[in-house]
Amino acid sequence: MAKSKKSSDKNPANLAPSGLTWKRDAFCREYLKDRNATQAAIRAGYAEKAAKEQGYRLLTNAHIKAQINKLARERARQLEIEANDVLLRLWEKATADVNELVRVERRCCRYCHGVDHEYQWKTAREFREHYDKEIRRQFGTDDPDKFVELGVKFDAGERIPGIPTDAGGYGFDPTADPNPDCPECAGEGIVHVVVADTREALSHPLYEGVKQTKDGIEIKIADRAKALEQVARHLQMFKDDVKLNASEDLIAAARAISAASPPITPQYARENEHRLDELDEGERAAADSRSGSHG
Ligand SMILES: [Zn+2]
Repeated sequence: MAKSKKSSDKNPANLAPSGLTWKRDAFCREYLKDRNATQAAIRAGYAEKAAKEQGYRLLTNAHIKAQINKLARERARQLEIEANDVLLRLWEKATADVNELVRVERRCCRYCHGVDHEYQWKTAREFREHYDKEIRRQFGTDDPDKFVELGVKFDAGERIPGIPTDAGGYGFDPTADPNPDCPECAGEGIVHVVVADTREALSHPLYEGVKQTKDGIEIKIADRAKALEQVARHLQMFKDDVKLNASEDLIAAARAISAASPPITPQYARENEHRLDELDEGERAAADSRSGSHG
């Protein structure tokens, strides 16, 4: 039986980029959603009453078959990329170094590196500022006797309590290590909490923002243990998917990550499943759709 084709089917201007008519192109995309030829034909706009025959006939067409295979391959590749990406980001989070965001450092005190372990100033300006302030305070006294007494000591080059000297010298470096021989701190130094510059921290896997509180700055840090559990869950899900489709590359990547983290086994994931309940809704929804539990 000869079939009359609509002229629009042959006009290249009316063809989809696949080279198929838009209707056939739509059929290919719809078919991939549920692998149901009849329903795909209906959704693509073919008449409902002949949809079953039409769907079957379309599936036998070589061009359509090729297009369906091409789309399926593209989709599989995209899923792999996404799966790898998720796993990689989780893995980065699980293995990231918290010290890069916040760490405690022991640094030298003012007497560690001063001459004869005297107080060491950063600069002459810093010394001068303190010196002048103390001179003004002590010599600005209203008590004439006290003033004379201070003046005599000062002229004699005697040390006046509270008036700083620069005997310890200059060049204090607050980032230097403590001196084990320091009589003031016994080499313990001074504890500093070092917080990363948030402009640099922005790209850190564990950085989740900064908050100004009444006690100071609070850096919000991602939960590494939770990330590890998510990796475990991801690997478990992935393992279930292996039977369906997964490239050798993805399997190799998952095995490599598995090997790099011995404690993370499917058993570990199962045993810690209750903790996964703490995942927020978005993560859970994403995990559910990946594991295919929607059907
Ligand atoms: Zn010291």
